[in-house]
Amino acid sequence: MLFRQLFEPVSSTYTYLLACPHTREAVLVDPVMPTWQRDLQVVNDLGLQLVMTIDTHIHADHITSATMLKREAGSRIALPALDGLECTDVGLQDGVPLQLGGVRLDPMHTPGHTDNHFAIVAGDRVFTGDALLIDGCGRTDFQSGDARALYTSIRAKLFSLPPDTLVYPAHDYHGRWVSSIAQEKERNPRLGGKRTIEEFVELMSKLNLPYPKFIDYALSGNRQCGKCPEELPESLQQYCREMQESPQG
Ligand code: FE
Repeated sequence: MLFRQLFEPVSSTYTYLLACPHTREAVLVDPVMPTWQRDLQVVNDLGLQLVMTIDTHIHADHITSATMLKREAGSRIALPALDGLECTDVGLQDGVPLQLGGVRLDPMHTPGHTDNHFAIVAGDRVFTGDALLIDGCGRTDFQSGDARALYTSIRAKLFSLPPDTLVYPAHDYHGRWVSSIAQEKERNPRLGGKRTIEEFVELMSKLNLPYPKFIDYALSGNRQCGKCPEELPESLQQYCREMQESPQG
């Protein structure tokens, strides 16, 4: 499998490029609006064809570039089938693999950060979206979040993957790039080791995180698979700024 880990600094998002070296088909997992041109350039520079974008869930902190990439590259849009979005071309379903040439992607339903959230398993690595982060986990206090569900998704599903599986999250805010199932299982401070579900639920309820500054725009934009809000305050424009610029002019 061809693989690249790309970073978008405004929302600290990792976008992943996965591709089959034989058929040259490529997928981008969690592509972000401000960096869609950079991402497409990487695909083109490697001589690949972007056939699909996958969003692990409906994001609250950035706008997906799924629709922009569909327009520019003809890629299909994959999102959790349970979200039932009209703009979805491929509905992710638990246990229903996606075949990308010789590369098999296994969607795994991992609710808790949002109810319809998916992780994507690709052989010896897993793209955990906002469920499992490095030394952390996604928040559970908005958008259908549920700490109990997240605990079960991570402990019963993700932690049952082989210990050497590499963990690639959708975000990291401290410059870390990759972890492993063994490492998170053993020492994730929120829900690794002997942490019980009751302790985790209490811990999550006391985080007191700030209200996400972009959420009111992002949710509606992402329910349309990546539409930039029409009237965006100046302070938030960096989340969608590149939208009007197209390489075609
Ligand atoms: Fe999220």
